[in-house]
Amino acid sequence: MSRIFKKELDPERLEELFTNDEKCFEFLAEVKWPDGFVCRKCGNTNYCPGKTPHSRRCTKCKTEESAASGTIFHNCKFPIHKAFYIAYNVCKGKEEVSTYEFARRLSLRQMTCWNFKTKIRHALQEMDSLSDNERESIQKILQ
Ligand SMILES: [Zn+2]
Repeated sequence: MSRIFKKELDPERLEELFTNDEKCFEFLAEVKWPDGFVCRKCGNTNYCPGKTPHSRRCTKCKTEESAASGTIFHNCKFPIHKAFYIAYNVCKGKEEVSTYEFARRLSLRQMTCWNFKTKIRHALQEMDSLSDNERESIQKILQ
């Protein structure tokens, strides 16, 4: 539970992730394709940039995969850098931060924070009921 991001991130990198959506997508892309792009549909390794930040589009079958798909950050309804902040603190923070406190720090509604925090908890608890792909992706982010 206390291990979110696989490797220790230095404070400067965290600062970037907690303030900049672009950096979050860049980070997710790094985690998702550590050894280069492989199309999940056809296995092709050539890609061009997709529509969303750091998404990749297969040059052969045109399937596009966003950097956040298959992770708890997929379809996030508020800025992803705020979601990173919550996820990091829930999983790696030294003390429990209430959803009211998250809401105050991030200028979000308390309910939004509560929903996302619950999502993280579920992701951690129900790792077993997920598909292999989902599990793998979430593990990469949450370990
Ligand atoms: Zn493809």
